[in-house]
Amino acid sequence: MPGKTKDAGCPGCGIPEDRDAIKAALKTCPACGYHYRMEPRERISYLADEGSFEEFSENLRSLNPIDLVGYEEKLSEAEAKAQMKDAVLTGTCRIDGKPVVLGLMSFNFMGGSMGSVVGEKVSRAMLKGAAEKLPVVIYTTSGGARMQEGIFSLMQMAKTSGAAAELDKAGVPFFIVLCDPTTGGVTASFAMLADITIAEPGALIGFAGPRVIEGTIRQTLPKGFQRAEFQQEKGFVDIIASRQNQRGLLSTLIDLHKVPAKAEAK
Ligand SMILES: [Zn+2]
Repeated sequence: MPGKTKDAGCPGCGIPEDRDAIKAALKTCPACGYHYRMEPRERISYLADEGSFEEFSENLRSLNPIDLVGYEEKLSEAEAKAQMKDAVLTGTCRIDGKPVVLGLMSFNFMGGSMGSVVGEKVSRAMLKGAAEKLPVVIYTTSGGARMQEGIFSLMQMAKTSGAAAELDKAGVPFFIVLCDPTTGGVTASFAMLADITIAEPGALIGFAGPRVIEGTIRQTLPKGFQRAEFQQEKGFVDIIASRQNQRGLLSTLIDLHKVPAKAEAK
């Protein structure tokens, strides 16, 4: 995570970091607005109405589908580090009084990689939204598919995409908030399938990372390559919203995309 060393200064503007001020500003720099990475439970505290979040699918745990040596240990370490059983938290809550299904990914859990549990929980969240006509909001951060689960992690791309299609069929709005970084198989599947794609300022959004691309094409990439602002200019992102504005924005978007009575009757 950026800014972990004491004297590093804000990665955005370089001023010495005032931990309390950053925390009070929802983990953003009070001077330049730089967005530090945030964990799911921290996000619930500023997004959801107090006490309204109810987690579901909380006991799903990954098996070791390709019998990879050491994977179980890695999972246990990740669980202790992120205080989560896998890289996504899903539940229902109210945002400004409106009920939604909320999914939040954690980069602290094995780089937010999507294995069978992440794929299953994200899919269940979307299917619940479709069945109960609840808008679905998912915050993404991911290094991509979880290599340790081999082909099973790649299958999650198709599964989550299929679940997103069910939301579309049900006429239920689907909002994605892309956080730093969202890459690989998550970008290549459900993260790009929302009705409205929101991003946090400065978030890295892409498939392969800039260093890999630079090394492959042997060309210098433009400034700000793959950052949220760049991706908005290229049409991948609809809205860039600072953390301070996200709750209000989601509330407005939910109002504007109310599930019509016709869809409800289906
Ligand atoms: Zn700053």
